[in-house]
Amino acid sequence: MTTRPILATINSNALKNNFKIIKNIVGKSKIWSVLKANAYGHGIKNIFPILKKSDGFAVLTLEEAIILRKNGCNKPILLLEGFFSKKDLYLIYKYYLTITIHNKWQMKILIQYKSYYPLNIYIKINSGMNRLGFLPKNINNIINILKANVNIQNITLMTHFADASKNSHSVFKQLKIIKKNIYNYRNFTCSFANSAATLWHSYTHYDWIRVGIVLYGASPTGNWKDISKKKIQPVMTLKSKIISIQKIKSGQTIGYNCTYSVKTKRKIGIIACGYADGYPKNINNETFVFIKGIKTKILGNICMDMLAIDLKNIPTAKIGNSVELWGNNIKIDNVAKSANTTGYELMCSLSQRVPRQIIK
Ligand SMILES: *Cc1c(COP(=O)(O)O)cnc(C)c1O
Repeated sequence: MTTRPILATINSNALKNNFKIIKNIVGKSKIWSVLKANAYGHGIKNIFPILKKSDGFAVLTLEEAIILRKNGCNKPILLLEGFFSKKDLYLIYKYYLTITIHNKWQMKILIQYKSYYPLNIYIKINSGMNRLGFLPKNINNIINILKANVNIQNITLMTHFADASKNSHSVFKQLKIIKKNIYNYRNFTCSFANSAATLWHSYTHYDWIRVGIVLYGASPTGNWKDISKKKIQPVMTLKSKIISIQKIKSGQTIGYNCTYSVKTKRKIGIIACGYADGYPKNINNETFVFIKGIKTKILGNICMDMLAIDLKNIPTAKIGNSVELWGNNIKIDNVAKSANTTGYELMCSLSQRVPRQIIK
């Protein structure tokens, strides 16, 4: 419980709307809803019950997978990077998790481990992202080794695209490498598409897509316009309140380091939101908040717990008025642009001290 006015509301209808749009786009392909990083900052326990039409949930850590199982999730759960040490395998079997295998050291451990029942395995192919995965030319061999040594239920081929924006040429190249190198690749289940590929490259959908950012209502490209046309809606609204109003005389400055000086007398509002809440500190001077139906600018440096806004055009503003930092009126993609980052980072950086509340 906190009495401080900052709050992140999570709009469950917007989330369901976004899921439905994705579902319509992909048709028969199954959907992994990606819930890593505490469901991109939205709260994993909040999000998974709202996404119950997902075919499965993809997470990063064993802890996240166990939270899902302990909260009643009986859908498939995919560990996107598989296991990090041998002792993880006991829990992987215990909680019926699907694992990614991306490296030889994992193969070695898996082969030596006594299996309890047949596992579902995702084999990560490095088709051009150059982060995780086996080279395409080695995949046939790896499949044979796994099949000969591990008790396997099903093998899925998995890859990740380096750039799946609309005009990308690399998606096609990455797919081509897979098709060229992997013998009868369509005999396997395939999972290739992230949000961007799901939206803009339908030939990548195959059996299972893996969507994160677009479910939460931000664009994988960072441009809100790219997804607003598809009727995607922002899921999170970050809002707070005016806790102080200052009348400043001409020539005075606002906040730390005196970076912003006012030329004529000015009314400003102090908002209970700072970088310790996850609001980005390094924004440019064209960054907006929304108050009483009006967009107004942030002035001066962001503090740890507060920021200042211009009330020049909002004479009726008073203490206690609600202010939207991002949401339906101020798109998180635009705040991210001002801060030279992405919606992904802002969502994931939202501090634990900001309460999350689900609304219908
Ligand atoms: C995070 C992640 C995704 C989801 O990416 P979005 O761009 O948020 O859709 C898909 N696949 C893998 C392997 C990931 O790590």
